[in-house]
Amino acid sequence: MKISEIFATKKNIFSFEVFPPKKTSGIETISTKLEAMSNLKPDFISVTYGAGGGGASIYTADMCRSIQDDFHIPSMMHLTCVNSSKETVLERLELMKQYGIENVLALRGDIVPDVPRQTDFMHADELVSFIRENGDFHISGACYPEGHPESDSLTDDILNLKRKVEAGAEHLVSQLFFDNDFFYDFREKAVIAGINVPIEAGIMPVVNKAQIERMVTTCGASLPPKFVKMMTRFENSPEALKDAGIAYAIDQIIDLYSQGVDGVHLYTMNQPEVAERISEAVASIRNA
Ligand code: FAD
Repeated sequence: MKISEIFATKKNIFSFEVFPPKKTSGIETISTKLEAMSNLKPDFISVTYGAGGGGASIYTADMCRSIQDDFHIPSMMHLTCVNSSKETVLERLELMKQYGIENVLALRGDIVPDVPRQTDFMHADELVSFIRENGDFHISGACYPEGHPESDSLTDDILNLKRKVEAGAEHLVSQLFFDNDFFYDFREKAVIAGINVPIEAGIMPVVNKAQIERMVTTCGASLPPKFVKMMTRFENSPEALKDAGIAYAIDQIIDLYSQGVDGVHLYTMNQPEVAERISEAVASIRNA
C-alpha cells in the first residue's frame, strides 16, 4: 500500500524505522525483531540504506520485502544517491518493482570525505525527479526541524525543501529532535513557504549511554536542559536511563499528537521492547 493512501484515510499515523544488520550477520538475524515490530501494527516500517550503497544496504530491499510479505505491514525503502550513478539507482528501482515495494524515502545521504562522491545527483530533489520519471512510487523526503547542518539558515533549508516537494515528494519525515517547539516552529514556516504535504515527526527514545554520546557528537539536535539533566542523572543506571528515555519519548509523542501532528516516526534502533512500551503507552491516543 502506498503511504499517500494511508495518510489520506487515517490520522495520527505512527510508523517505525529499522536498520539492516551488519553484512557479516545475515538477514535472518533481524527476522525475529521485524516480526515483533510488525506485531505492534505500525502504519508502516521504513528501512535505512547505507549512503555508500554497499555493506548492510544489500539487506534493505530484502527487509522491506519481508516486512510486507511475511508480516503484512507496508514498508518504505530508504535510498541515497550521494555515492550512486543513475544506473545504480535504476537497478535499485527495478529491484523494488520486482519485490512490490511501492514506497521510497529519497535521500541525498551524508557526504563522507573518504568516499569519492558521484555527481549524477547533487541533491535529493534531483533523485526525487528521477524516481518520479522511472516508476510509479510513493516518494517521501527528509526534513530538518532545526535546519540541515549544511544550511546557512532554517529559511534557506525550507526553500530547498520546497524544491524537493515540487519535484514530487508527497510526504516528509523529520530528523530527530528533543524539543517539540523546534518542530512546531518548523512546521509553521514550512506551511508559510507553501509546503502542504504531511510531515511526520521523528522521535528517538534515548535508552543507553552509547546513544547519549553519539547524540552529543553527531546528531546536531539541541538538547534541552530537562533532557540533559535526566541523562546526566541516570547515565550510570542502565535500567533507570532506559525508563527515563522511554518516558521522555512518550511525553514528546503525546504532546505532538495533542498539537495535531500528521504522524510520528519512531526511530526504534531495532529494539522491539522499546517500541512496544511506547506503542502501548500511546495506543489510545493514536486512536482518539
Ligand atoms: P538534501 O535534501 O539534498 O539536503 C542536503 C543539503 O542541501 C541541505 O542543506 C539542503 O538545504 C541543501 N539543498 C537541498 N536541495 C538543494 C538544491 N536544489 N540546491 C541547493 N541546495 C540544496 N542517510 C543515509 O545514509 N541512509 C539513510 O537511510 C538515511 N535515512 C534518513 C532518514 C531521515 C528521516 C532523515 C531525516 C535522514 C536520513 N539520512 C540517511 C541522513 C541524510 O542522508 C543526511 O541528513 C544528508 O546529509 C541529507 O540528505 P537529504 O536527503 O536531506 O539531502
